[in-house]
Amino acid sequence: MLRVDLRELARGGAVETQGELKQDDPALEGVDISLRDPVSVTGRLQSIGEGRFYWQGAARTVVEGECRRCLTPLGTPLQLEIGALFTHDPDALDDPDSYAVAPDATEIDVTPAVREELLLAAPRFVLCRDDCKGLCPQCGKDLNAGPCDCEPATEARWQPLKALKDKLRS
Ligand SMILES: [Zn+2]
Ligand SMILES: [Zn+2]
Repeated sequence: MLRVDLRELARGGAVETQGELKQDDPALEGVDISLRDPVSVTGRLQSIGEGRFYWQGAARTVVEGECRRCLTPLGTPLQLEIGALFTHDPDALDDPDSYAVAPDATEIDVTPAVREELLLAAPRFVLCRDDCKGLCPQCGKDLNAGPCDCEPATEARWQPLKALKDKLRS
């Protein structure tokens, strides 16, 4: 469960949080990275003083993306470590890792902290493999499957630079 009954915490110690957020969970609305897997959440919430609760959590999922060179669809594991303060104290809310809890709240829901971290997790540029050859810029062929028949484009691309060098040299 990702909601913790505060009466459990009142008995002292920490409460384990564990749960899963499906891709279409309303809590994930607005998160614009596409998730291949549901977000699996673990962690523990503990009372650290009057009206203050600290959640140490982790979220794991697989992000849908594509190789930036050859555009092959890829699943990239995403692992987030999350530390969040849930508090009754409005003054503590300046901290971006702090979340408000109503003084009369009977439970704490840790999903806003997960959502926040996912919003910050910008999609990373990934490669299907370090030496991916990419697509031919002219014919679009996947060069990992073999060379194409296009003339190498490098010649033309470096021409102005070569001319400049010749000029500087003379
Ligand atoms: Zn690739
Ligand atoms: Zn080509």
